[in-house]
Order: sequence, then C-alpha cells, then structure tokens
Amino acid sequence: MISVDIDLEKLNDLMEANQQISHAEKIEAVENRINTIRELDDVYLKVRTLINYGKELYAVGKNEAAREIASEMYQVSSKESFDELHMLCCNLLGNISARKGFYAMALDYYHQSLQVIETHALRTHYRSMLINNIASLYASLKLYDSAVKYYLDALPLAAQEGNYEAQFLIYYNLGDIYARQRQAEQLAETEQMLMQMTQSTCQGTFYLGLYKLLAAKHARINGDIYIAQALLASVLTLLAVEEDPVTRLECYIEKALCAYADKQYEIALHEAKIALTQVVEAEEFEFEREVLQMLCDIATAMGNTAITAAYQKQLITLDETFIARMNEMTIFQIREKSAVKIENRLNENAVKLLKNMQMIYEISQEITKEQDYDKIFRLIIQKLVSFMDFDALVIGLYNAENQVVYNRMMYHRQTITRSYDVSVHNKSSLATWCIRHSQEIYTGFNSHLKLDDFEPLQLNFPDLEVPYESVFYLPLYDEGTIIGVFSLQKFERDGFNHYELEMIRTIGAYIAIAITNALKTQELKRLNGALEALSRRDSLSGLANRHALNEDLKTYFAPSMRQNHISVIMIDIDFFKEFNDRYGHLEGDMVIRKTAEIIHRHIDDLDARAYRYGGDEFLILARAVPLEIIEIVCEMILRDIRMLSIRHDDSNINGIVTLSIGIASYGNAYLEAGEDVLLKGADNAVYEAKGNGRNGIAHIVYDVPKEKH
Ligand code: GH3
Ligand code: MG
Repeated sequence: MISVDIDLEKLNDLMEANQQISHAEKIEAVENRINTIRELDDVYLKVRTLINYGKELYAVGKNEAAREIASEMYQVSSKESFDELHMLCCNLLGNISARKGFYAMALDYYHQSLQVIETHALRTHYRSMLINNIASLYASLKLYDSAVKYYLDALPLAAQEGNYEAQFLIYYNLGDIYARQRQAEQLAETEQMLMQMTQSTCQGTFYLGLYKLLAAKHARINGDIYIAQALLASVLTLLAVEEDPVTRLECYIEKALCAYADKQYEIALHEAKIALTQVVEAEEFEFEREVLQMLCDIATAMGNTAITAAYQKQLITLDETFIARMNEMTIFQIREKSAVKIENRLNENAVKLLKNMQMIYEISQEITKEQDYDKIFRLIIQKLVSFMDFDALVIGLYNAENQVVYNRMMYHRQTITRSYDVSVHNKSSLATWCIRHSQEIYTGFNSHLKLDDFEPLQLNFPDLEVPYESVFYLPLYDEGTIIGVFSLQKFERDGFNHYELEMIRTIGAYIAIAITNALKTQELKRLNGALEALSRRDSLSGLANRHALNEDLKTYFAPSMRQNHISVIMIDIDFFKEFNDRYGHLEGDMVIRKTAEIIHRHIDDLDARAYRYGGDEFLILARAVPLEIIEIVCEMILRDIRMLSIRHDDSNINGIVTLSIGIASYGNAYLEAGEDVLLKGADNAVYEAKGNGRNGIAHIVYDVPKEKH
C-alpha cells in the first residue's frame, strides 16, 4: 500500500522502480493529490511526477489520457530544458504512437529521444531502452531478422547498466519473435534466462506472468497444449492482480492459438472473438491484424466460408492501412530525418535503418499496390535494378498442401521466363532446398558450399554450365509460414557483401507482404465466388437461382417423390435484347424484377417453386398441380405483365413488354428420364410459343392422363 501522505519524491521513486505495486495503486496515489501536483512551485518535480503518471496510464491501456499528459509535458520539458525528462517524454509518446500503429510518428519521437541522449550524453540504459523500442518497431513491421539484431544490440547495453528489468523485457521480446518463427531451440534458451531472472533479479507477479506466458508459447509450439493451457490459466490469475491489458490480451490470443492447435475450433473462435473485442478497446493495431488473421484461419479450418470472407475483408482493409502507415514512415524519414547527425555505432544503425527505409519505400510503395502476381514480379525487377547490382532474380511460391513450388519466375539476361511447377522434394533445386530447410543459402562467401540432400544438376549433366558464382536464396514468410522463395544472383564470386545481404533480407520481407496481399485478394475473390455459388438466391430478381434449381431438381426427382407428376414452366421475356438496347440495362433490370414479382405472386399458394433460370428466363417447378390450374396461372402471369404496360417501341405486340411461356407436364413414366430431358421439354414449348407469335402459352404434355385431373 502506498501511504496517503507519502513524500512526492518517494512516490516518484516508487513509480520508477517498484514493480511490486500495481499500476492502479500508483495511478490512484497521483490522482489523490493531482491538484497539489499541478500547483507545485518545483516545476521539475511536477513534470517528473506527471510523466511517471503518463507512463502508468499507458501501462494500463489508457492511451488517450496518457497521450494528453505526455504532450503537455513534452512542451514544458522542452521549454525548461529538462533534457532527461524530455527524452523520457519523447519515448513515451513514441510508445503510444507505435501501439496505435502510427509508425512514422513513433520513429520520429524515438529519433528525438536519441538526439537528446547523444547531445547530452545521458545514461547508457536509456540507449538500451531506445534500441529495444526501435527493435519492437521492426517487429511490428514483421521484419523479424532486423528486430532480433536490434534486440541483441540492446541486451549488452542493458547489462552494462545493470538494468535487469530492461534486460528481462528484451529477452521476453526476443522469445516472442522466436516463438513466432518457431525457433524452438532459441526459444528454450530464452525461456531459461527468464526463469532464472524471476528467481533472482526480477521477482514479482508481473515478471512471473511474462515468463509463464513465454513458457506457454513454447509448450504450444512443442505440441504440449495442456501444459500451455495450464500455464495460461496461471498467467491470467497473476494478471488479475497486475492490471496489464496488453499482456492479458496476449494471453487470450495465446489461448485461441492453443485451441486452434488442438483442433478445438469452436473454442478457438470464442477466445479469438474475446481477443478481438479487447484488441479494439486497447487500440493495439498490430495485435488487431494478428487476431483477424487467426479468425480467418479458424473459420477456414471450420469450413465456414461466410465467416472467413467477412474477416478476410476486414483484414485486407487493415493491411491497406498498415502499408499506408509504413509508407508514411519512410516518406517521413526521407523528408525530415536525413539531417540527423551520426557519430557512434548506435547511430550507424540508425543510418542503416534510414537507408533501408528509403529504398524499401520506393519498392514497397509500388509493389504493395499491385494485386496481380505477374505484375508484382515485373515491378520488383524494375525497381531493384536501379538500386542493386545483380544478374538474375528468381521468385517461386510454395503451396504447402500440394508440396509444390509454383509460379516460378526467373529474370535473367534481361528476359523473364516462367518455369514449370516443381515438387518441394526435388533435390536439384536450391529453391526447394531453401523451403525444405527454412533456411537461407548464400554461395558467395564459400563457393564450395556443401548442402545435405542437394544434388546439383551438374552431377548428372556435367556439361551444364551454371554461370552464377554468387547465389543468395531467401525463404519468404507470412506470419512465420513459408510462402515462397526469393533469390538474387550474380556472375562474379563474392558478389554481395554483408550489408547488401541485409538489404535483400529486408526487401524480401516486403516482397512477402506484397505477394501475400495479392494472394489474399485472389483468395477473397475466390471466396466471394464460392459464397455466391453457395447462396441460393438470385440478387436481382429475389427468386431462387440456378444453383438452387439444380439442388431442388435432385429432390424433386428423387425416387420417393415419383408418385407425383410434374410440370416445368419456362417463362421468357419477349424481345428483351431490343428492350435493353433501346432503354438501357437498368430499365431492363427493372423488367426482370417486375416479372419475378408477378411470378412469385401467382405461385405462392401452389406446391411450386420459381427460379431465375438465366438472363431473361424464369422457371417454375410445380408438383401435382392439375394441368388446368397450371394454364390459368400462366394466363394470369401473361395478363399481369401486359397490364403494367411497360413501353417497348421495338416490340410488335402493342408496343409493350410481354412474355412467352412454355409448359411441359410429365407423368410418372417420364420421371426416370432425368432432369435434362424434362428441362428440354419446357425449352421446346417456349420455342413453340415464340413461333406462334409470342405473348402466349404452348403446353406440351408427356404422358399425364388428362382424365385423372
Ligand atoms: P425473344 O423474344 O426471342 O426471347 O428475344 P430476346 O431478345 O428476349 O432473346 P435473347 O435471349 O437473345 O435476349 C435476352 C437478352 O437478355 C440478352 C441480354 O442482353 C439480356 N439480359 C440477360 N441478363 C440480363 C440482366 O440481368 N439484366 C438485363 N437488363 N438484361 C439481361
Ligand atoms: Mg427473351
């Protein structure tokens, strides 16, 4: 408990260091005396207290309140030249922006922070914090390799300063990335580190909770779902004490992932939906994408096309925002930040980041807009040749279900060739090796590279010349799953240096995003098509559609139904092509709707169903309805359309829209003949009605004894 009359300096010390006291309690302690704080003559103490307050608000997910306080303190700390406080303020504003997905703004704040640190030679542990933040930004952009590198840079800095809390968080972040990439070995090591730290330097529920959360991820990846679930239950109890909406959110995501891995799709869907509500509340942009992707996966696994399509749509919108913000960041970089002064290794990294971003901006901006795979390929080449020196470029996509690498495209000697699909088990391809092993290949530094289960074509075809000495193959990932390979190649040996390899990796990540987007759009189109086919209704007329007809025909003519005779009625609009030509398609659509309405009205109380059969053709299936009634109903349909007097100057029937109707009635003997024969009869009848001058009915009766009715 924080005592009510605690000294303000002490309260700040507690807020800055003590992890045992809950955020809620700290917030309360400040709010209890907020007026006194605001009136303080000691401006430094006031700013320090309010920034700490802002940090607490951020920790419990009160983003807007945190942002308000931080913005205010940003001004004051700058005016008063409280460098250290100003730096902390920039960092807090950076974190808030990053959480909301405003990457450009976040990077700007981090850079301001960095400048303050450099200019005023502030304590080292702020650097570790900042590099950790930049690394997390990379992780948000799914550039995991770069994120890992920055985290690994931040670790020794945190250790130097003896800042164990920072170290713990960096380890946790690293572990999270290892879990996403299913790197079980590294994950196990990281988990071990966290475990040791919870027993020595980082005690308390918060750290224990994070450690268990990582352990749960590890257990899930190892397939120990029950262990993972038990760990998660325990994390949630620990977190009930410690208010931490972000970690709690991660727990729900993890619970859904566990249920999904366990094929408990209903439960997974339930947990993921909880996560989605929390995600929206917490304004956690990055998690929102993650949860939506998961919901898509779950719905797909459940075979629920409608739900999948709905989430897929949301996801695509979100992805577009994501790309826009990513671009926003790079534009920002180019315009504003190129003036940043660079001195030490830390800043060297910042420059690298900047250069990468600059180039990636140019490429990503174009390729991510494109939704066609072939065009993306061409664009990549077009853009890359102006940035990098290479002699060949290869991209292939991987279909894990069929185990093939498909859509293989190669750019070589200024031409693009598309090659045949190849099994992922093919041993003479570097591309398939790279996918099988989820590993990069670079032949440049060591041209005698020996790979397991790789048999170069030259073994069997000694005359074959492979002109490339430097070959770099890179797996492309979407959220940890391999979706393909990307390769750049050069004639000369040692063609790419480490720096260029790093660039290629980064570009690869964006190419993966572009391709995934294109595939998702394709998938959405396919899903929409499937949905339409699944739907039984025709959207224009409101009647059942042809798909429904095909289904119904099967039940109508099922053996158990055969004691009833059947009439198939086909209705066709007269001179409809001319009507469209003269009055336009929209007017034409109106006629289709009116016709459908009339048909619907007249068959409502019969044992009959109506369908839109094709463009201007409608069909009625009627079972055991006496032939006289059928004919009366058809006469009324003809009459009603005439009574609408829809003007049709190209019709020779009173200059109005009319219909022609063909009826085919079948007795039991015909019911075995099959649907095709039955529909053909009605078709012949319509043909006859048209031949008789239209606006009339032709009725062909196949073996229905009249006297029975
Ligand atoms: P007939 O009297 O011999 O039936 O002549 P027709 O002009 O009606 O025959 P045809 O089958 O050649 O023309 C049907 C026209 O229906 C062709 C097409 O332009 C139009 N059509 C098909 N589907 C739609 C639709 O959904 N909306 C509109 N407005 N027109 C359609
Ligand atoms: Mg027609």
